[in-house]
Amino acid sequence: MDGTVQTKQGDTARTIDSVVRRPVTRNEDPLKELFVFDLDGTLAPSKSSLGDEIASLLHDLLKIMKVAVISGGSWTQFEEQLLARLPSGDDFENLFLLPTCGTQFYSYDGSWKQVYAETLSDEQRAKVIAALETALRESGVSVPHIWGEAIEDRGSQITLSVLGQEAPLSEKEKWDPDFTKRTKIKEILVPLIPDLSVNMGGTTSIDVTKPGIDKAYGIKKLTEQLGLTTKEMIFAGDALFVGGNDFPVQLAGVDSILVRDPSETARVIQTVIACLGDGDVQIVSPGKTT
Ligand SMILES: [Mg+2]
Repeated sequence: MDGTVQTKQGDTARTIDSVVRRPVTRNEDPLKELFVFDLDGTLAPSKSSLGDEIASLLHDLLKIMKVAVISGGSWTQFEEQLLARLPSGDDFENLFLLPTCGTQFYSYDGSWKQVYAETLSDEQRAKVIAALETALRESGVSVPHIWGEAIEDRGSQITLSVLGQEAPLSEKEKWDPDFTKRTKIKEILVPLIPDLSVNMGGTTSIDVTKPGIDKAYGIKKLTEQLGLTTKEMIFAGDALFVGGNDFPVQLAGVDSILVRDPSETARVIQTVIACLGDGDVQIVSPGKTT
């Protein structure tokens, strides 16, 4: 047998045997060492807690690779949405947290430690808060009700959540799905604070930061802090499209996977664990029966 067969048309075709035995060729890129996730809409529903399945899968993933989570959200959100749902004593040495797009960086060494925080000056923050109030008022957009505080000072980022930080997700989702209202506010806001960067994020929010602060900035911080290249990272996010707040990660050169919601993220994590795990780390994952 020479590894070929004649088809009816007389073409030469390889046998299944020769195809199966052909070695898989790999490129020279290093294996991924760090999985970077967006938080809202990717690991957890917007401003909500991590579900049981993702918490369990992250627990498993932390046993086989480094994990980073990067979000425009504050440290408090990371504590409430993410850390409160992970088992204490988990492999947190492998977990790195980047609130406010990496203008803050937290790592674990027996307890969670802030490695650095880059904040706006007091003068800048006061100016931003006044500008946000003016832009919201002058835009004339309808605000039916405000749940909790609307403006949150996160030090390195000031966020206007138009319906308030405690607004129910159902209300937030229907308020400005096509960004029309926030675009009106942004048009008034930008000339008031021309030296700062204004971005629409989440479902009802507008974020103000120093210029050049987006998730690509967070990726740059990860390369500096962890000594990894972008090729050694993989990213998953729900806003990996032009204009989406995850898109800068792809532009920064990180292999990026667009997910629709946390349940799709769960399938991605399971795939990674199945490929890289030793068969034991999956034991607490839902559906694992051995
Ligand atoms: Mg997101």
